[in-house]
Amino acid sequence: MTIYNFSAGPATMPAEVIQEIKNDLPSYKNSGMSVMEISHRSALFEEIFQKAQQDMRDLLKIPDNYQVLFFQGGCTLQFTAAPLNLANKYHRIALLDSGHWAERAGAEAKRVGVKVDVLDSSEKDHYTKLPSLEKLQKDTYDYLHITTNNTIEGTAYTQLPNTDTTELVGDMSSNFMGQRYDVKQFGAIMAGAQKNLGIAGLTIVIVRDDLIGKVPNLPSMLDYQLFAKKESMFNTPPVFAIYAAGLVLQWLKNQGGIDEMEHRNRQKSGLLYDFLDNSKLFEAPVIKKDRSLTNVVFVTGNPEIDQQVVSQAAESGLVNIKGHRLVGGMRASLYNAMPYEGVEHLVDFLKNFEKNYR
Ligand code: PMP
Repeated sequence: MTIYNFSAGPATMPAEVIQEIKNDLPSYKNSGMSVMEISHRSALFEEIFQKAQQDMRDLLKIPDNYQVLFFQGGCTLQFTAAPLNLANKYHRIALLDSGHWAERAGAEAKRVGVKVDVLDSSEKDHYTKLPSLEKLQKDTYDYLHITTNNTIEGTAYTQLPNTDTTELVGDMSSNFMGQRYDVKQFGAIMAGAQKNLGIAGLTIVIVRDDLIGKVPNLPSMLDYQLFAKKESMFNTPPVFAIYAAGLVLQWLKNQGGIDEMEHRNRQKSGLLYDFLDNSKLFEAPVIKKDRSLTNVVFVTGNPEIDQQVVSQAAESGLVNIKGHRLVGGMRASLYNAMPYEGVEHLVDFLKNFEKNYR
């Protein structure tokens, strides 16, 4: 039975990449050593590293005046690093509360003494829509933090909020490389790798040059300027995760890049949303214009039926569709590596479930 893994992260990876890792594992490029065993300062790894960075620059069209930095510590550590590095003038940031990960980002900023103003929240609507930005007071905030894709609640920004002269910082963890955004519109972007870029242990930060190097004596492992200077090799980087990301980036290039991924993600999520919108049993609670292309949330309204859906789906090879505990119901994560057929199978399963249920 083919298994389709709808996990929100760590998540399904391209089958070709898994196969490549398998082939490479005993002896990388006939070196007699696996990638796990070579020095991060070796020529073999240097090549992997440079190529991964360049491929990311090409795919995302990252302008030259932006740094691409590789960190450990997950995106959660960036909720600390971003305010430490970037909230250096007003020591105050603005936040649009679109759900759990936005709230977490605000909480961590506060822990390092930065004031956080929540300008709008969609909590009252159970996060089934995005908050909106009515007005952003000038010369008040170091930046506005948004979560471009809300992994748990299933919403995503297509149109970015207009921040005028205030910098925009985006947590792009769950639609990084899956949807086209213009990097120039952001002061900084952060994203964990374990959804659309391979395996856990690597976090990407893309940050504009002129915003960094303003705060002396930051903890080294959180210092954007230091990481830029040391080309993300201040200490031992997550070698295997960078290698895996490199393979995913090459795969993305072979598939046609980010625009092609967005196109496919629209098709995949469209197939599922269309079914849900016409179903009498299932419902997609998120309003149409704010729906995520990568995390599709749906419910029956009855937790017992939801539970049956989740377990029967798993028996059919459609695994990890249980919704996050904060939202309940179901969630299908349709990252780049999820093939269209996976979603067709899921929709067929849901159709059958509905038919047999009535
Ligand atoms: N932001 C978003 C949007 C996420 O989905 C996640 C993880 N699911 C995080 C941040 C936290 O990432 P990490 O676990 O890598 O710290």
